[in-house]
Amino acid sequence: MKIPAYAALAAGRPLEPLQIERRAVGPRDVLIDILYCGVCHSDIHQARDEWSGALFPMVPGHEIVGTVAAVGAEVTRFAIGDLAGVGCMVDSCRACQPCQHDTEQFCEKTAAWTYNGTEMDRKTPTFGGYSTQVVVAERFTLKLPAGLDPARAAPLLCAGITTYSPLRQWGCKPGDRVGVVGLGGLGHMAVKLAASMGAEVTVLSTSRGKQDDARRLGAHGFEVTREPGSFERLAGKLDLLIDTISAPHDYNAYLGLLRPFGAMVVVGVPPAPTPVAAFSLIGGNRRLAGSLIGGIAETQLMLEHCARHGILADVEIIPIQAINQAYERMMAGDVRYRFVIDCSSLRR
Ligand code: NAP
Ligand code: ZN
Ligand code: ZN
Repeated sequence: MKIPAYAALAAGRPLEPLQIERRAVGPRDVLIDILYCGVCHSDIHQARDEWSGALFPMVPGHEIVGTVAAVGAEVTRFAIGDLAGVGCMVDSCRACQPCQHDTEQFCEKTAAWTYNGTEMDRKTPTFGGYSTQVVVAERFTLKLPAGLDPARAAPLLCAGITTYSPLRQWGCKPGDRVGVVGLGGLGHMAVKLAASMGAEVTVLSTSRGKQDDARRLGAHGFEVTREPGSFERLAGKLDLLIDTISAPHDYNAYLGLLRPFGAMVVVGVPPAPTPVAAFSLIGGNRRLAGSLIGGIAETQLMLEHCARHGILADVEIIPIQAINQAYERMMAGDVRYRFVIDCSSLRR
């Protein structure tokens, strides 16, 4: 079936309307009428081909929430009318070691990314949530717990799981001192999630104007990294750092904020590599780690955690026609804290 979408036709081109083809609903598929789709900074990196190898035309969007409009004959977990979510993956090989251990994001055959990738046939391009409908394997469709506002839940499907997973991997617990670097879409989720786990959270931001928001989101401390004294005040104090910055920056400076055996987890993806000095790691046995989204089971756990703790994203809802301005505003750090597309605007 043909449906309306917004696409980048080439690297760096403004997004524009495009009709795309969605596959017919197979026996184990779910058809979702998309209500909302969050705008992740990864959408910008990829639409601008900052990570190379981008496939065009590209329909970004991997923070999808909608209502189930049809289900295949063998689908058991979803019924027409249910609220459902789709994150960064729509399929994987399901047989390899990572797939068997709920880490489909590391599928040895490469997961079918929600966009800028292919289905597992390795031919059919995948298109993301800046569109009106999507067809997804049931196994990669998330159940939205009752009571979660769909627009504010959409960003949980990427920003939520990407920050929940490293907090969980590194055992975040009451009393831990967690630093969140960069207060954007991922950063604001990291603050809410770490606070919900009982951590004492400090935000490290370039924007003085975000201080009040940081406290409202649950942070205890706030440092403006461009102002003198901020790194000195926090030196050696933090147990865990979650680094969400999307642009080049000096990892060494942040590593110095960790106490002995502390860890800095990189989730932001600056387009260029950054040198790390051996001494930044050796002093204090500090660890530098990375984290890529989370598996499907962990994403479901995260949604349930958010429902239990009343955690949702702070969003600014936009029509699809405003997407190119939204990208510019994100590049300027001007988003509080996630743009979410009202996908009914695609039907206009
Ligand atoms: P975002 O909403 O644009 O937020 C990024 C924040 O980083 C900004 O709000 C700003 O915070 C800070 N920042 C931006 N430019 C900076 C600079 N030059 N120097 C210092 N700080 C700067 O982006 P997002 O959607 O949260 O995504 C953040 C990064 O995570 C992106 O690179 C994205 O691709 C990546 N990501 C990774 C995964 C994964 O699985 N690992 C998943 C999703 C996204 P302040 O104003 O507070 O300084
Ligand atoms: Zn994302
Ligand atoms: Zn696999």
